[in-house]
Amino acid sequence: MMQPITRFSYRKEEMRMALTTSPRGTADIYGENLLAWLKLERLIREICRSFGYQEVRTPLFEHTELFQRGIGEATDIVEKEMYTFTDRGGRSITLRPEGTAPVVRAFLEHKMDQGPLPAKLFYLGPMFRYERPQAGRYRQFHQFGLEVLGSADPLLDVETIVLPLELYKRCGLKGFVVELNSIGCPSCRPHYREQLKEYVRPHLGQMCPSCQSRFDRNPLRLLDCKNEACRKVLADAPVITEYLCEECAEHFTQVKSYLGLLGVDYVLNPKLVRGFDYYTRTVFEVTYAGLGAQNAIGAGGRYDGLVEEVGGNPTPAVGFAVGVERLLLALADEGAFAAEQPRPDAFIVQFGGETKIKAAQLLYDLRRAGLHAEMDHLGRSVRAQMKAADRLGARWVLILGEDELAAGKVKMRNMDRGTEELVDLTQVKQHISVREE
Ligand code: AMP
Repeated sequence: MMQPITRFSYRKEEMRMALTTSPRGTADIYGENLLAWLKLERLIREICRSFGYQEVRTPLFEHTELFQRGIGEATDIVEKEMYTFTDRGGRSITLRPEGTAPVVRAFLEHKMDQGPLPAKLFYLGPMFRYERPQAGRYRQFHQFGLEVLGSADPLLDVETIVLPLELYKRCGLKGFVVELNSIGCPSCRPHYREQLKEYVRPHLGQMCPSCQSRFDRNPLRLLDCKNEACRKVLADAPVITEYLCEECAEHFTQVKSYLGLLGVDYVLNPKLVRGFDYYTRTVFEVTYAGLGAQNAIGAGGRYDGLVEEVGGNPTPAVGFAVGVERLLLALADEGAFAAEQPRPDAFIVQFGGETKIKAAQLLYDLRRAGLHAEMDHLGRSVRAQMKAADRLGARWVLILGEDELAAGKVKMRNMDRGTEELVDLTQVKQHISVREE
């Protein structure tokens, strides 16, 4: 018979879990996986440099009001997903769920709006959303994002699409699709919103509860509901791009023609809307089919009203955010982007006693010269030290026995070539470095 779970044993199990597992929706990044992250981060910085973007590191938490105003009260993120708490000083604080509102805040706080414009900024770091964790969806995840503030040039909408595409391509990713739409501006969108509501109203009863509650507050979000019944209702809904005002239509035409000029393939998706209230005109999303339900590997758009919403002068802006975990999942799916394990330049094998002391000196000599040098710290036999060196993939094994020591020399075995030579202790660094060049 199964033992009933006592309160005591349940508590104990809970405590064991709390001590030995990270919170739901979070992950440790380490080992081989970390190498891929570092490689990706290097590539991001390289590409940002050539496109003229400067890094900005904003705090991991902000005043809650920034997100309420910036993202929009009626969005899922603000209503359901923020990590909000009152700090010991009684202030309402929120762990950042996205990077755009903090960058806009920093842009205004540090008077970047006074030029030179456009300000071109990028960020890379963790975001926090209380979502239901599943493959590709976490509660702490990372975004690489870019923001261009201070220009309405449609060529910059295109720049914020092309830059992440450059990243995807340079990582070796192939099967991604760019979806593009324009959701107009505060002068043309309200008219479309009414037309959409008119169309949906008679069918509202057949739609999912979340669409029913969004109908009045945020009807555009009905367009991207994944529910089958809702999709059926919306199949023949009016299309926003047919309701754009002249300026928005012209802007969209220019975005498309610049994309054509630069040879960027894209698919028009008139049902593409985004989860933030701040977008105007161009919105885009990059999807990778191999990821299943969470298939967006990046998304962005123009947000000409946000700077003013946060308290600045009217300032047009556009940006994009890449989901780092999802990009790495997509790359793993294609078997691309494996990071190489770093190999020690040298592993010193010693025989204990005096030879260990000399080995320690040599170890630090090499490290101070910028080489990656290792030795044993587990009191292993010489044979086991050789094995350890091999497992680490050391390029050179330096064997420091009593005889070698007495002669002021070390036996250097080149692990790639399988050759061995006796080298003066003072020449080891040079010997390794020459080979490196
Ligand atoms: P968003 O800020 O919602 O526009 O998202 C931009 C990108 O961040 C998405 O396309 C995803 O790649 C990624 N992303 C958003 N939410 C999550 C999450 N909960 N877990 C992992 N990645 C996410």
